[in-house]
Amino acid sequence: MRWRDGRQSDNIEDRRGSSIPRGAKIGGVGGLGLLVLVVVGMFLGIDPTVLLQSVPEVQTPSVSVDQGARPGAKDDLRDFVAVVLADTEDVWSDAFRRMGKTYRPPTLVLFSQAVESACGMAGSAVGPFYCPFDQKVYLDLSFFGDLRARFGAPGDFAQAYVIAHEVGHHVQTLLGISEKVNELRSRASRSEANQLSVMTELQADCLAGIWAHRADKTRQILEAGDIEEGLNAASQIGDDRMQKRTQGHVVPDAFTHGSSAQRVRWFRQGLESDSLQSCDTFNADRL
Ligand SMILES: [Zn+2]
Repeated sequence: MRWRDGRQSDNIEDRRGSSIPRGAKIGGVGGLGLLVLVVVGMFLGIDPTVLLQSVPEVQTPSVSVDQGARPGAKDDLRDFVAVVLADTEDVWSDAFRRMGKTYRPPTLVLFSQAVESACGMAGSAVGPFYCPFDQKVYLDLSFFGDLRARFGAPGDFAQAYVIAHEVGHHVQTLLGISEKVNELRSRASRSEANQLSVMTELQADCLAGIWAHRADKTRQILEAGDIEEGLNAASQIGDDRMQKRTQGHVVPDAFTHGSSAQRVRWFRQGLESDSLQSCDTFNADRL
């Protein structure tokens, strides 16, 4: 992916190396908090309870492991994230303008190990996520290592897709889609709620595809093999593959993000159609 000459976003909050306050409680993550975690778009189909379980670890006095940048050190990965974020700002600002709306870009928080968000505390294990309450995307850069090594999805464009997907949830929030979905989910059965979640996630994949299409049109970001990297990532993190990896068998009713085939299909749909209307997963004949 061609990114080095791109503009870098200022909307990055670098909390790497900062420790979580000692004794911080996850009290806010009960009740309403738990509900919120369920609806927060997490990149991986990890059960939200994982997020809760991962929290106690950070209640031990936090030793700040140096995953962050040392002053003056070259921080390529941070620069990369800042350029991708800036590209999403350009693409969505323009798209919103054409709809007669204003795009308010999200802040992207870089953290290491654990982070406190308006949606509760989260450990790195949960993967990148978007919190609609503070409209921030949370990312531990070590996830990119996992993406490559654990999930078999190497490549910088795979990483960009992750960021664009989370920004897709921000777009859904600004457009009022997330709010409607949450309302429907609150009245739905478990499997219906999961299906709504799948539609939401696949739409975020489609929006990520639109981003890639438009960023490439204006800045020629795509290099040979990039599209394949993105499609491979979408496939590797499909619910069926994730379930096979974690529990050894597949339970379609429990899908929250969509199967590998669906994620590939909707990312490609955005990429090739370049149309917001075509990302209407909620009224699609098939997902
Ligand atoms: Zn998501």
